[in-house]
Amino acid sequence: MMDSIKKAFHAKCEADNKGTKYISVVTNPEIWEKVKPVYDILFTKAYKIETVFVEDPGGTCEGREHHTQDASPELPITQSLVSDFLRQLPSKGTVSPMLSAIVPDIFYHGFSTRSGGLSVFSSLSSLNLNFNPKRRDPRVVVQENRYRLSAAGGFDVKRLFVAKAEHGSRVWVVGKDPPDAYDAIVTNSPGVTIAAPGADCIPMLFADPVNQVVGAAHSGWRGTLAGVAAETLRAMAANFGTVPSDVLVVLGPSIGPCCFEVGEDVAEKFSTVQPACVVREEGKEKPTIDLRKVSRLLLEQAGVRPENIDDGTLGTEPTVTLCTACEPGQRFFSYRRDGAEFGTQVGFIGIKGAE
Ligand SMILES: [Zn+2]
Ligand SMILES: [Zn+2]
Repeated sequence: MMDSIKKAFHAKCEADNKGTKYISVVTNPEIWEKVKPVYDILFTKAYKIETVFVEDPGGTCEGREHHTQDASPELPITQSLVSDFLRQLPSKGTVSPMLSAIVPDIFYHGFSTRSGGLSVFSSLSSLNLNFNPKRRDPRVVVQENRYRLSAAGGFDVKRLFVAKAEHGSRVWVVGKDPPDAYDAIVTNSPGVTIAAPGADCIPMLFADPVNQVVGAAHSGWRGTLAGVAAETLRAMAANFGTVPSDVLVVLGPSIGPCCFEVGEDVAEKFSTVQPACVVREEGKEKPTIDLRKVSRLLLEQAGVRPENIDDGTLGTEPTVTLCTACEPGQRFFSYRRDGAEFGTQVGFIGIKGAE
């Protein structure tokens, strides 16, 4: 049984390493019926799986990307067996979330990097934390990566909630009915971990130490203009009595003004909010946007104190506000750099003191 899972996962790793999406499984109909569920769990729609039925799948075969399924499993292969198999595999590197110096000790938080997961394909390697059926990481691998983050971050993965990336400004208050789409989450429950995804967009964390409330928002250019940061503060205030001047905000790894080229139409939109956040440099054809600068302005307008916004300009070292696209160690996932198959990191936060 484990042997069948191992073989299928190995075939996936090989395909991911080579960058191919075609897999030929050499097997027979009887075995295929039993092992097909494992392929359904491990392979997303990003792959093309073809079966080659032979009488003796144990025999050798020549040609393209063939891999053999000849073990005959006795039990049906379930999700939990696949999870168990993944659990014992070694991580690629260690999970070491980056921390902001301004978040008080009553909270736990961090920003994940690419290191420490199981994902193999170049642009997902290795701690991809978001599932998308069109990309190569199946749900079960993303779940395992999230588990590894939780183990390093010291929180319960079963109580982890990750905001969606809809590029809007809606906020979900944990415990209430979630809206269909939400880019931010807030809670005051200790031990509940909330996270904002990002792959150039800003994962933004909020901490109110007075009322003990946390927030996490995914803020790309659309979300920034839609006011997702102010909406998050509003939800913290409306539900838990947060006063914005008490709140600490951290802007995580995200695309910097060095790399965030936009068209004139987008530049125009930002110009009306804050002309200084549109950067025009000699030799660059297109303008770039300083999303962090405009985020700071909008946060300050919403009542957050300037010294309570960690956007890499406070002088605290090391900073978490690095550029996802051009950081020399390529420690982060970046949509701009990697294209459609991009992976996702998160910023997460929670309140200590859960039972
Ligand atoms: Zn985004
Ligand atoms: Zn950059």
